Amino acid sequence: MRDYETQRQHHLDRAMTLAPEMIERLGWPAYALAARRVQLLRELVRAAIARSPWHRDRLAAVDLDRLDELSLRELPPMTKADLMANFDRLVTDDRLSLELVNNHLETVTTGSYLLEDYTAVTSGGSTGERGVFVYDWDGWAAFWLSAFRYQLLAKRSDPKLASRPVVMAWVAAAHFTHATAALSRTFASPEFVSVRFPVTLTTENMVAGLNVTQPDFLVAYPSALHVLSVEARAGRLRIAPHQVLSCSEPLLPEIRAAAEAAWGVRVGNIWGMSEGGCAGIPCEQARTHLSEDLVIVEPVDEQGRPVAPGERAAKIYLTNLFNRVLPLIRYEITDEVTILTEPCPCGSAHRCLADIQGRLDDVFVYDGRRVHPHVFRSALGRRAGVVEYQVRQTPRGARIAVRCSAPVDLDGLRGEIALALATLGVPRPVVEITAVERLHRDAGPAKLRRFVPVEDRRTFASGGARLQAEPVLSAR
Ligand SMILES: [Zn+2]
Repeated sequence: MRDYETQRQHHLDRAMTLAPEMIERLGWPAYALAARRVQLLRELVRAAIARSPWHRDRLAAVDLDRLDELSLRELPPMTKADLMANFDRLVTDDRLSLELVNNHLETVTTGSYLLEDYTAVTSGGSTGERGVFVYDWDGWAAFWLSAFRYQLLAKRSDPKLASRPVVMAWVAAAHFTHATAALSRTFASPEFVSVRFPVTLTTENMVAGLNVTQPDFLVAYPSALHVLSVEARAGRLRIAPHQVLSCSEPLLPEIRAAAEAAWGVRVGNIWGMSEGGCAGIPCEQARTHLSEDLVIVEPVDEQGRPVAPGERAAKIYLTNLFNRVLPLIRYEITDEVTILTEPCPCGSAHRCLADIQGRLDDVFVYDGRRVHPHVFRSALGRRAGVVEYQVRQTPRGARIAVRCSAPVDLDGLRGEIALALATLGVPRPVVEITAVERLHRDAGPAKLRRFVPVEDRRTFASGGARLQAEPVLSAR
């Protein structure tokens, strides 16, 4: 087995080889993008029928020569529950199994590929249900390029950025089982430096680190962006990013406005997902464009019927055209997407998206100490036996309900979370974890409120999402 660093370098070389065409496709006309999608769709379904027993059972009758984006709608959709229940028959490499991938994810901190070529990541997803995803060699490179081709283009075309290494700061997931962290490790390069600040850091440490790093590009969860723009306006955070990007959570208008005021640049919103890379990526005008050369996104209503452009969908069916080892064909994602009909002034033929709506995860505040939900999400998401969970804030810690499919060391989990809270300044934290048969859902069967803060007079409701009314919101 080659050592990780050597193999990672090969992977970076491969990504840089693929980069020029990926960048060029940003400028392709709509008809060329559509033709490419149909070609890749046929190849994907052909490969899935040939090598995935689960897909073969469902798709054997498909007429591949006639398959296009319209007839795709006649194929059965799939869910995360389908994926997790049928993982071993769904992958196209029969050496892979859910057990193997789970075991790999538990030891992934050291840096390694799975079966030489593969990268695995997990996701809690928008409903708190755990998902596991495997990417093949080129699929993982395409994932990275789906996120960074605009920055690579900026580096190429902006003389200020072209003359020196570009620094990108990530205020995002801490653990390498999450896609954002895993990508910045695989594709770290001297020309394109990624510095990661776990969202679980204290605000003081994050600010100090960013002041030293002086990033050209800042990517942050909106909840963290909110905190950082307060710090910038107070004069403690002193950075001048070329571009600010948000990811992973809904970008609320208040947060975008505060960040734009703090740094004087437009804030773009990445629509990223463990299942399909950056399905939406902001251009220089900070409009989010669908990655129409890499994925097929079907906006649909609750019943799965197509929703017209300009109308908000209840969910989408995603077809990932760039990863062959785990074919996701009409995979349901409960994001409320609106595909816009107006073209973007940047001239790209990739259609634009309205900002993705949905719930912003609640930040817990303990006596002024902010604790990002990722503290819990990260520890829970790494336990293979945890299917879904709900975390309720208590005055001194949290009460957590977990639904498990296999035995989980709840004492170890409790200790890990308590230690993380103590590290963040919560004195003598008390964490209770209970395994339950089912979780309480107060907003219908689909949506689970994963993080429930202690009710506080300072909270307010806004467009279905909740925010702590911290200074940036009340002072403006
Ligand atoms: Zn644009």
